[in-house]
Amino acid sequence: MGGPCREFTTPHARSVLPLLPTVAKMPEPIPLETEHGLYLPDLELWLDSRRSRENGFVSHAHADHFGRHQNILCSEATAHILKTRFNVAEERLNPHPFHIPLEVGPFRLQLLPAGHIFGSAMLHVTRKADGASLLYTGDFKVRRSLTAEDPVFRRADTLVMETTFGKPGWVFPSINEVTGQILNFINECFEAGEIPVLLAYSLGKAQEALALLHQSRISAVLHKTVTQMTTACREAGCRLPAAVPFEGTVPPHHVLICPPNVIRNKEYKALPKLRTAMLTGWALDKSTISRFGVDAAFALSDHADYPGLLEAVKRVMPKRVLTIHGYTREFAAELRRQHYDAWSIEGDDQIELDLSSP
Ligand SMILES: [Zn+2]
Repeated sequence: MGGPCREFTTPHARSVLPLLPTVAKMPEPIPLETEHGLYLPDLELWLDSRRSRENGFVSHAHADHFGRHQNILCSEATAHILKTRFNVAEERLNPHPFHIPLEVGPFRLQLLPAGHIFGSAMLHVTRKADGASLLYTGDFKVRRSLTAEDPVFRRADTLVMETTFGKPGWVFPSINEVTGQILNFINECFEAGEIPVLLAYSLGKAQEALALLHQSRISAVLHKTVTQMTTACREAGCRLPAAVPFEGTVPPHHVLICPPNVIRNKEYKALPKLRTAMLTGWALDKSTISRFGVDAAFALSDHADYPGLLEAVKRVMPKRVLTIHGYTREFAAELRRQHYDAWSIEGDDQIELDLSSP
């Protein structure tokens, strides 16, 4: 990756996370700064920074993980999607294939599938001198999906993980159960002469919905941003049916897939008898239906649920864990109960006192 990032070389601008207590022969953790976002100073590399940086790893093409960096390290599929979605110039992109080691000075990098959306990647870093390692997950999912690559976890000393659903109780039904609920909803709409509308974010969830319908031989028409993202994913190698754009009408026995924020737009006002269903992990919370003003909600998620998060930790076998996004403190506290050295990146963790000890 390019030259030094001067802005962050002054010591007082850094918040270097505390090192683990010295244990014989255990390598020191790879430094990670957290004050202005996630930054690996030894690699001069930002992780999913939304601010424009010199060098940035972009784990996937969702807007909340993207910044207009000078040099973007990402998976090959994400590079293609970024060009379509955010008009990123080719020369800024440094796409790298999954699994193939990338040597950067004294470090070896590896992109691993994160299972979140098509193209989503985790970043595994190894310091060659002493073998110290770090895994940054970005958004991830443990269960298999129809469109994202199967996730691959690799052992690492430090695990930096998202914890969107990091609280007990967030346990998603099986994919078969959720698929059954969605198909029932669609059949009920068809029988009642209504148009079923699946509300799904235009990148990721919408393609998953399309693939799910396709395997049940149900056709769909797509909002224009869903059409655009579906075409970009297909071009990048995702197995999906060709996108059929919505052009004012929905043919009989077709489903409309569109992002949640556009369904009240005037282009849909003229359609008779719409019945809407939101696809989101938050569907487990009963208030989701009223909050989004929809007729139904189904727990199709592109994130790991609580057991999935615990499963990821088990597979990575980290010496320390740093949590970001969602229930960071709650999940870190649970890991500490399980004797991991785990902390929320937001700080303010409540330290538990073990009153049972003498
Ligand atoms: Zn995401």
